[in-house]
Amino acid sequence: MARIVMKFGGTSVADIDRIRNVAQRVKKEVDLGNQVSVFVSAMAGTTDKLIGWVEEISPLHDAREYDTVVSAGEQITAGLLALALQNIGIPARSWLGWQIPFRTNQVHSAARVEEIGTDAINERMNEGVVCVIAGFQGISDDNRITTLGRGGSDTSAVALAAAIGADRCDIYTDVEGVYTTDPRIVPKARKLDKITYEEMLEMASLGAKVLQTRSVAMAMNHRVRVQVLSSFTDKPGTMVVDEDEIVEKQVVSGIAYAKNEAQVTLVGVKNKPGIASDIFTLLADGNINVDMIIQNETEDGKKTDLTFTVTQTDLEKAEEMLNRADNIEFDNLITDVNVAKISVIGVGMRSHAGVAATMFKALADKGINIQVISTSEIKISVLIEAEYTELAVRALHTAYGLDGE
Ligand code: ASP
Ligand code: MG
Repeated sequence: MARIVMKFGGTSVADIDRIRNVAQRVKKEVDLGNQVSVFVSAMAGTTDKLIGWVEEISPLHDAREYDTVVSAGEQITAGLLALALQNIGIPARSWLGWQIPFRTNQVHSAARVEEIGTDAINERMNEGVVCVIAGFQGISDDNRITTLGRGGSDTSAVALAAAIGADRCDIYTDVEGVYTTDPRIVPKARKLDKITYEEMLEMASLGAKVLQTRSVAMAMNHRVRVQVLSSFTDKPGTMVVDEDEIVEKQVVSGIAYAKNEAQVTLVGVKNKPGIASDIFTLLADGNINVDMIIQNETEDGKKTDLTFTVTQTDLEKAEEMLNRADNIEFDNLITDVNVAKISVIGVGMRSHAGVAATMFKALADKGINIQVISTSEIKISVLIEAEYTELAVRALHTAYGLDGE
């Protein structure tokens, strides 16, 4: 017997037939003798519709009421799945976040899970009842409904799996797992059997949408075994695991791309100690996340050019803050939104030389110019002209030997 937490995303519960299909999948686990809790998302498109209504009635809304509205989709699917399970003879009941309770902080629309009441769930699971729980929602200390951010049902599921010591957390979605890169760009992309927490964290934060980034961080911290798999096929998915479970480490496991970055260059910044600190403190205080950075001194050393990237949504704010700051002097501020960040990711990079050289050569062979570079222990990212995104991803996929049949 194992304890399993299952989570079904919006496309998996998009209509009544699909909810019946989900009930059958849950039944399979129950028939194997497993104890099961299930999280559901709202039906595909529902959350977007609810958000649209909130924005229509009041563009500058009370965040607490926003959460009251947008959490509603999950209530419907939780009740429907409990009914579908009962109809096929599986004892089941539904819970909303506040009934568990899923305690969170008060940061509405991006709340963090703080504590989960596990008594009722443990008791019911031991009795063989399937606990169907509305994902994405919780309750704050001041007794208001909160939501965990878009895609937050993943985090609900992983959080409960950690709290009840589940053997596995299966995240069912509409793709068969985690791929080496976006299969829409590279038809030869392969599904990975396993990926490490760290790699998955990089992939998720770089825009691979299969798991909410926060759910991966939580799984990593609590060593929850997560599986990403499709609710439409019977194939095994991708296991997200600890590094030492992977025997043959790929140097590069995946390639990600993001088109939502913007490049900012401050030309002719006065070169003196503390200037970088002034610039990046200013941006940090404005809650603007800076990703890649390069600096070039002029020949006489008196001035320097500083280039960095921010997300396109933060660009206007960043420009405005820099132009307004009296303590930051520069000749010119240039921005470019026609850029894409391409990243290669792999834990094997730690112990292999030449990974960056392979990347730069593959791009050079295609005549693609690199504008900015940044690296971490398991990732190399470059900024290039946006129109070469697909070409670059394909070239790198081949260069690192990732192409499948
Ligand atoms: N329904 C919510 C959303 O669309 C939460 C989720 O599906 O994970 O963001
Ligand atoms: Mg999702």
